[in-house]
Amino acid sequence: MKIQIPYNKIIKDLSEEKDDRLIGLQLPEGLIWRSSEIINKLEDKTDKRFVLSGEPCYGACDIPLDRMKRINVDTIVHIGHSKLLPSNQLNDIKVNYYPIKFSLSNKNLLEDATDKLNGTKIGLVGTIHYIDSLRSIKAFLEKNGFNVVLEEGDYRISELGQILGCNYSAAPEDVEEYLYIGGGRFHPIGLSFSKNKRVVIIDPEKEEVRVTEDYDEFIKKRMLYVEKASNANEVGVILVTKIGQTRYNEALKIKKACREKDIKCTLITLDTISPSKLDRFDLDVFVNTGCPRLTYDDSDRFNQLILTPGEFRVAFLSEDFNDIYFDEIRE
Ligand code: SF4
Repeated sequence: MKIQIPYNKIIKDLSEEKDDRLIGLQLPEGLIWRSSEIINKLEDKTDKRFVLSGEPCYGACDIPLDRMKRINVDTIVHIGHSKLLPSNQLNDIKVNYYPIKFSLSNKNLLEDATDKLNGTKIGLVGTIHYIDSLRSIKAFLEKNGFNVVLEEGDYRISELGQILGCNYSAAPEDVEEYLYIGGGRFHPIGLSFSKNKRVVIIDPEKEEVRVTEDYDEFIKKRMLYVEKASNANEVGVILVTKIGQTRYNEALKIKKACREKDIKCTLITLDTISPSKLDRFDLDVFVNTGCPRLTYDDSDRFNQLILTPGEFRVAFLSEDFNDIYFDEIRE
């Protein structure tokens, strides 16, 4: 499916900019191969010149404010995701967001999903890419006798019912189960883990309906990591400097707890965490205070054990694994 770029909207928004200053452009990984096509078209239709951020983009948590500021860019066109950063973090840079959105075209998936729902009070959620379908899905379900709840999230969430891999604040609590619209396996596992409820998934990319199935395996794997990590007497605590992933207070709390428990602790700042970067340290256990998706979803790529802050507490501060919570960025 070819992704449509909202050229007209971008051009209209930029026409409000007074002069011909350099505009920053940030694209998701899947669109980098089309960067010259996109820049040529935008430069043809406007009096602006563009500079592309060539670093990989992890999401709207990863806007290159400092790098762009250094080259005198004060407007960034971000294609792919919706607004996440509060304006007081933008450092006087204007960010125009153009999320990529698709519609749910296969209506049979909706019929299949209603057959798989066990409850009658349903929380409806989705990724930003399918968010525009949620209202019509709600209407369909209500016509079929379900009570459907669509809720607003916290400051990181820009649309009703939207969830992120690091934030499930728009998933209502007072429901029996969830219907999730979106691709991938991570978001529904995170949702199920964070709310301890069953999730029925409509995956428009694979054109299938399924139920969170690998949740138990996921928990077992995390418990194993925690158990192994608890034998270490030294940890590295990673404080990620990506603007929407920095959890300064969380990292410092862990550092303080280590000092109190006599655990050696190296506090490390990194912008992007990668296996080759962590291999440079003589450490077997890291605590990642940045994107939880990396900790949970990419752990097999690393030679070290990577824990969430909550898992660190279970491994080293004798908290009970039953108290473990899904790591979300909410501060
Ligand atoms: Fe960023 Fe990770 Fe959250 Fe996605 S899940 S918005 S990459 S911190």
